[in-house]
Amino acid sequence: MKIILAKPRGFCAGVTRAIETVERAIEKFGPPVYVRHEIVHNKFVVESLRKKGAIFVDEVAQIPQGAITIFSAHGVSDKVEENASERNLDVIDATCPLVSKVHREAKKYEEENYEIILIGHKGHPEVEGTSGRVKKDVILVTNEEDAKNVEIKNCEKIAYVTQTTLSVDDTKKIVDILEQRFPQIQRGLATKDICYATQNRQDAVRKLSTMVDMLLVIGAKNSSNSNRLRDLGEECGLSSYLINGAEDIDSNWLKGIEKIGLTAGASAPEVLVQGVIDKIKRFSDLEVEVSDMEGITESTFFVLPKKVRK
Ligand code: SF4
Repeated sequence: MKIILAKPRGFCAGVTRAIETVERAIEKFGPPVYVRHEIVHNKFVVESLRKKGAIFVDEVAQIPQGAITIFSAHGVSDKVEENASERNLDVIDATCPLVSKVHREAKKYEEENYEIILIGHKGHPEVEGTSGRVKKDVILVTNEEDAKNVEIKNCEKIAYVTQTTLSVDDTKKIVDILEQRFPQIQRGLATKDICYATQNRQDAVRKLSTMVDMLLVIGAKNSSNSNRLRDLGEECGLSSYLINGAEDIDSNWLKGIEKIGLTAGASAPEVLVQGVIDKIKRFSDLEVEVSDMEGITESTFFVLPKKVRK
């Protein structure tokens, strides 16, 4: 049996920065530090930070006045920032710089009086953060059906931004529909807001799918980019499973399979990849050969927030 590992896979620069921000804050200010929302969508990461002294909360109202508070990589709305300031919280913002870029873009469109469409998943924290960065209502488009039916007040002055972790292919289809319906829409590259890490992991899975019989994606059920990797594997015709880690593997999945593709979403640590490999080795009677596919090496790096730099 062969396991072929996707390249690139796992942590992106925004996730690495967010996790290091929490670790450095605990080191520098001492526990506890409060984190609004899961710092990244991965239970393993959240649990290990909890053990080091992080307290995760849903809302800033749950944080004691003046406490060290970290905003997650997904970003927050203006309202959350205002609430934090009313409570005198000492905020360290771990929003991924690529999400902040989308916030700035949305604000710019608002200043120029555009009606704004946000392509993304309803209820995702990044979507809530981005919509909450502009004062007027943002129109959420989640799929092609929405794009066909969305109603716009002024078709001459309309622009779109997207969530950073969408399917590249689905987003292109949605943008095509919008551009056909509203020729004046502020154009850009259809997938301009989808981040490099999401695009690279999807490109790798597309290539990997031609080399294997089955795909395993390590990632949390609420991780948007991990779900898109699993969806892509299925679209490429593979049985594809999204797993939290080794504990979720069902030995029946491996029956008759010779080559397994293995990848990890942008918030899943490499230690979980090794755990999955070990589990498959235990399940298999045959020798298991593990190799990396050929793929790009990412070099994107984001500096840490000022308050936690050494
Ligand atoms: S997936 Fe992309 S946008 Fe999200 S944290 Fe990583 S680099 Fe940033």
